[in-house]
Amino acid sequence: MSLDGTYDPNNIFAKILRGEAPCARVFEDDHVLSFMDVFPQVKGHTLVIPKHSSARNLLEEEPQVLSPLILGVQRVARAVRAALEPDGLVITQFNGTAAGQTVFHPHFHILPRWDGVAVGRHASGGMADPAELKALAEQIAAQIT
Ligand code: AMP
Repeated sequence: MSLDGTYDPNNIFAKILRGEAPCARVFEDDHVLSFMDVFPQVKGHTLVIPKHSSARNLLEEEPQVLSPLILGVQRVARAVRAALEPDGLVITQFNGTAAGQTVFHPHFHILPRWDGVAVGRHASGGMADPAELKALAEQIAAQIT
């Protein structure tokens, strides 16, 4: 899918938001939902998505959605740091297929990084054990402030 197109209300994140698909939930408020990536590039790979969006990427997003979204990203990233004590964190997002985007609902990736620990390639890893993801989600959720 190119950068231009129509929002698909049946994308997987829209289904998660409607409760039609499961997720290992970390945090939610009125504006954002955060959950574990099921194909993690590294332990603790966490996603943050806006709840009320019909944009397919960051470029299309409304300012009133972006503001609480980035605050949610910071809040969850701080909790990831507190829970998993990484040496650093990568926070990223992709726009368009050519850039690596695979789900066309805006989202940020939070990837904890440890010195000497490699990260898997984007969108090419195996599916994580749901029980492990749930445990990680609870560990991070306990550090939300
Ligand atoms: P992107 O490729 O930037 O669009 O990111 C989409 C991310 O969503 C990828 O890292 C996928 O591993 C992840 N993903 C896909 N399906 C699910 C799902 N059902 N639950 C959690 N994460 C998912």
